[in-house]
Amino acid sequence: MPDERIYLDYNATAPLLPEARRAVVDALEAANPSSVHAEGRAARKIIEDARRAVATLVNGRPEHVVFTSSATEAAAMLLSPDWTMGRAPLRFARLYVSQTDHPCILSGGRFPEKDVQRIGVDSDGRLDLDAFQQALEEHDATQGLPLVALHLANNETGVVQDFEVIGRLAKAAGAVVILDAVQASGRVPLDISTGYADFLILSSHKIGGPKGAGAVVGAGDLMMPLPLIRGGGQERSHRAGTESVPAIAGFGAAAREAVAGLMRMEEIAGMRDRLEECVKKLVPDAIIYGANAPRLPNTSFFAIPGMKAETAQIAFDLEGIALSAGSACSSGKVGPSHVLKAMGFGEEAGALRVSIGLQTRGEEIDAFAAALERIVARRKEKIAAA
Ligand code: PLP
Repeated sequence: MPDERIYLDYNATAPLLPEARRAVVDALEAANPSSVHAEGRAARKIIEDARRAVATLVNGRPEHVVFTSSATEAAAMLLSPDWTMGRAPLRFARLYVSQTDHPCILSGGRFPEKDVQRIGVDSDGRLDLDAFQQALEEHDATQGLPLVALHLANNETGVVQDFEVIGRLAKAAGAVVILDAVQASGRVPLDISTGYADFLILSSHKIGGPKGAGAVVGAGDLMMPLPLIRGGGQERSHRAGTESVPAIAGFGAAAREAVAGLMRMEEIAGMRDRLEECVKKLVPDAIIYGANAPRLPNTSFFAIPGMKAETAQIAFDLEGIALSAGSACSSGKVGPSHVLKAMGFGEEAGALRVSIGLQTRGEEIDAFAAALERIVARRKEKIAAA
């Protein structure tokens, strides 16, 4: 067992950045940010600084950022049939999502199941744009508006959707567009001011911040869902509850680092490509999912034919390397990947996900390659002995 563990599972959670840790610790004793005394005002300043940092990450405006406890909560808030436009009620009749979305989108939030339509993807994981356009054309606007919620980049494959085309098609149909930018943020440049989306969803712990903070960033704030959590007037009454100052402070610090980190994405893509070259060299029949589509620079999702993904994951774990099999997003279970299924691969298809980030070092890619070589050699020996 190697002394030092190697963490290649950034899409599950990115390691806490030192800057975020400092911000969290510094904010642990913050007062209630709604208090008007000096202590309260100091806590308020921490939150507003973080709000500016999170807005900057997507070129949005700080006043259009609503902090939540997670991206899942942000999705639950936005995926609602009942909204307001100024003071007038606004009703969405149907929600359009993709079959490869994260469960927090796929579940449809506050929409009844019958009003959620899940659009398919091609074998590379790209949204079927014809089916999407057709679904929107068939939308019955007499019942209410269409609401579109889609992930910008997939957590398993890293495939990045053509969000500009998706935005154009959705806008042409009069839809409001929510993009789950959880995996894309800090990895591809995002600019909400360009108009392809009305709302972006972000998560602190995927960019090196602490768990316990997420955000909705709107292109404006005239149109908002009815709050999911009612109570006090925090977050301009869009999300009640005393803000978690440490988690938000850490999120803000991570967002600042993520903006700077965008400059390093070519280098990270280079490490990912090198890793995939090793996989292809050691396992010539390996399947790399989504390889023909635009992908995040940090993600590789591949199968080793004849070896169960869970078995391979355990083998890597014993080698001191943390990575994911299928999608282990919920309760640590490794189930069949709904993403691979939607891409047309059988229930039995499984894959290993390697996801890297700002703190990954080139030597860790070398260590991965060496571990893979040992795992493949052991497998060959076992097959030969059988
Ligand atoms: N959306 C995507 C694409 C994700 O990968 C995840 C987490 O894995 C989420 C949403 C949920 O984020 P959170 O953990 O902040 O609820």
